[in-house]
Amino acid sequence: MSWEEKVRKVEPYVPGEQPKFSDMVKLNTNECPYPPSPMVEQELKLINEQEFRLYPDNEASELVHALAAYYHTDSNRVFVGVGSDDVLAQVFLTFFTNGQPLLFPEITYSFYEVWANLYKIPYKKLPLTEDWHLDGFTNPADQVGGIIFANPNAPTGIYEPVSYVEEVVKAHPDCVVVADEAYVDFGGESALPLTEKYDNLLVVQTFSKSRAMAGMRIGFAIGNEKLISYLKAVKYSINSYTMNTTSIRLGLAAVRDDAYFKTIVGKIVETREWFKKEMAALGFTFPDSMTNFVFVRHNRVSGKELYELLRTQNIFVRHFNDPLIDDYLRITIGTREQMERLLDFLRVYLG
Ligand SMILES: *Cc1c(COP(=O)(O)O)cnc(C)c1O
Repeated sequence: MSWEEKVRKVEPYVPGEQPKFSDMVKLNTNECPYPPSPMVEQELKLINEQEFRLYPDNEASELVHALAAYYHTDSNRVFVGVGSDDVLAQVFLTFFTNGQPLLFPEITYSFYEVWANLYKIPYKKLPLTEDWHLDGFTNPADQVGGIIFANPNAPTGIYEPVSYVEEVVKAHPDCVVVADEAYVDFGGESALPLTEKYDNLLVVQTFSKSRAMAGMRIGFAIGNEKLISYLKAVKYSINSYTMNTTSIRLGLAAVRDDAYFKTIVGKIVETREWFKKEMAALGFTFPDSMTNFVFVRHNRVSGKELYELLRTQNIFVRHFNDPLIDDYLRITIGTREQMERLLDFLRVYLG
């Protein structure tokens, strides 16, 4: 057998592209169009030579404490990682291990399938309802290895109420249920309070979308103390120093400026609601988004065609090469001016 036959082969996740043009309108990876809190910039100026020279605090304790205080919980119920992608990778390694199938939605964050394949976890994808809602997760079933879904879901933007999450957890007391709340700050209600009541629910969130810090890679999970301790054990066994000191310090500054956080989230929600009306007027249809993106389709023009046309204008949106959703585009909510530029083009093209 050649060495190449012994290599672990995976189908890699394909992230949205990161083009660098000065006049581009970048609406393809759900980043925040606004800068992070001015307190983050101030904090950056305070980073000194020690912070470069010494290893970071491997538990990122200051950030953990700040998050615990912000979410009114205990520090031993909080786990941080290098982006929620890192948190989720640790979650897959830690909790989905017994060979029973992991359940996740057929249309969702495509990384779930990548990790399941990478870690050789069997899985079952549950189709959404016709109007894109999660389906089947509340049915009690034996032999379930674990459950993960994004709420609000991506790329549909649809939010399920906390009562739905509770139904799922109640139906599956014998496995870990993970609610990936990357977009919950844009109008949904978090399932965090349920983690006090159910020891098998883990809620995962990120600083990448609503806190304008995708480049700093900060994500976290909150859940029962025991769940968190299992996660930490796996994490520290393979990677001991992960979040760098700058990210810890800047993340802390971001958490402290709650007023700023609420202001930018409010602006994005306001722009989203206005953008929905403009897009509907142009003949687009879309599920009702509770996120910082809208998942749209037009019955006269294909998703692929629009995606390519917009590229020629230096407007970047996301198109997925999945036959289930290839009619659609996922458009991040940027500033009002960015959305105007997109709308101006669409009005001419479709008009
Ligand atoms: C963006 C996103 C993540 C990952 O975010 P990080 O930048 O790694 O924190 C996780 N889940 C969903 C559903 C996302 O959209």
